[in-house]
Amino acid sequence: MDNKKIKFYLESFAEIFLVFLFLLITLKLIKSPRPRDILYFYIFCEILGFYFFSIYTAFFITFSFSLIALLTLIIKPDGWIVIEILAAWGIFYLLNIYLKIAEKEYGKQKLDLEKIEQQITTLEAQIEKFKEEEPIFKERLEKYKDLANFSFELGTTLDFEKISKTAITFTKQVFKNSNVMLVAGASDIYDRWIYEEQKPLLVEDTGKDYRFPRIYPEFTSLIAYPIFSEGKIYSIIKVFSRQNSFQAEDLRFLSTIASLSAIAFMNANLFEKTQALAITDSLTGLFNHTYFLERVREEVTRAKRFGEKLCFMMLDIDHFKKFNDTYGHQIGDEVLIRVAGRIKRKLRATDLIGRYGGEEFAVLLPKTDKKNAIKIAEALRKAIQSEKFNFSGEKLNVTVTIGVSAFPECNTISELIASADESLYRGKKLGRNRVVLWEKG
Ligand code: GH3
Ligand code: MG
Ligand code: MG
Repeated sequence: MDNKKIKFYLESFAEIFLVFLFLLITLKLIKSPRPRDILYFYIFCEILGFYFFSIYTAFFITFSFSLIALLTLIIKPDGWIVIEILAAWGIFYLLNIYLKIAEKEYGKQKLDLEKIEQQITTLEAQIEKFKEEEPIFKERLEKYKDLANFSFELGTTLDFEKISKTAITFTKQVFKNSNVMLVAGASDIYDRWIYEEQKPLLVEDTGKDYRFPRIYPEFTSLIAYPIFSEGKIYSIIKVFSRQNSFQAEDLRFLSTIASLSAIAFMNANLFEKTQALAITDSLTGLFNHTYFLERVREEVTRAKRFGEKLCFMMLDIDHFKKFNDTYGHQIGDEVLIRVAGRIKRKLRATDLIGRYGGEEFAVLLPKTDKKNAIKIAEALRKAIQSEKFNFSGEKLNVTVTIGVSAFPECNTISELIASADESLYRGKKLGRNRVVLWEKG
């Protein structure tokens, strides 16, 4: 016999016993000299019946009491008995009201409980989901930590090659088992597509993408992101996978790498431009006075150490004022730009050229003796003289006078400059458009 059955039998037995006891007490009370005691007993039972069983038990007790009381009334008329019956029903009525209030309260609590249960279920589901997603979040967190390091590393350099290397290394680290490329220009159909569409590319399966023939059979998937600079594609970062299929999430991550790299490239570009601005003359693009002298100092030191020769030239445009006075300052500027261009084209890449003053240029010829320096200076003078400077239909003749000094006769920078300047002055006095070499004595 199981516990449930035992409980049922015990309860049934207790109920029969109670009914029996109830009838016994009732009989005793009827026979007692004080029939009103029945009321107290019944009200007591009515409340107990309600409390332990139900409102129906209370009703049953009240009803049976009323019958017994009515019988008593017939046997032994007593006005109190009517009041007692009414009192019993009054209490039954109160019990009913109490029950309704309790039921209402219970209903509310039940509703609250249901809500709480629902919330618990939702929370449990969320916990489950978090548990499932935890490794993904952890992986992502790691990725973003690496990204922060990558960004920091990019911030420490202004060198194009180092930026490229850092970007490739990091991308390889993120996308394991893949080939990473940073290409400038269009090297294959994928690059061409990016240049045409001006947007990133995701090929989930290189074997099934109808847009492209499978040009690299060893790769299964591809993501590529253009790195923009001043609105144009500067380069493309491409990742080819050997095993996986890339998804939109991978492309998103690559976009972050591309954006950070683009910023680094932009900074490097700006730095290069700023550096160039700091050392060049904005009108002619030649070295400015300060930087030119700095480089001359280096060359003289080198020549001294290795016992080499070098020459220094000072050029001045003849009657330059007349260009300004006759044609205006703008044409004067144009003459300066063209003469500078001519000098640059005529000299070697190792020669240093600077704009020394207004319309004066200085040149340092490393590893050059006087004889060769004179030849170079002559060739330059002739080249400038023979070039026709065409300004709005009018052809202008431009000539220069060149003063030349040489190391080691002139042993310091100031001597080199002063001597070349002196020769230049002599050249002007002698009638301009000539080369004058500074000689000792
Ligand atoms: P010389 O043959 O004796 O050298 O005669 P010059 O007229 O060239 O001599 P000068 O040195 O007296 O004149 C130089 C002129 O160059 C004066 C100045 O107005 C002009 N100049 C200096 N810098 C610039 C410049 O950046 N642009 C223009 N347009 N003119 C300049
Ligand atoms: Mg001058
Ligand atoms: Mg001049």
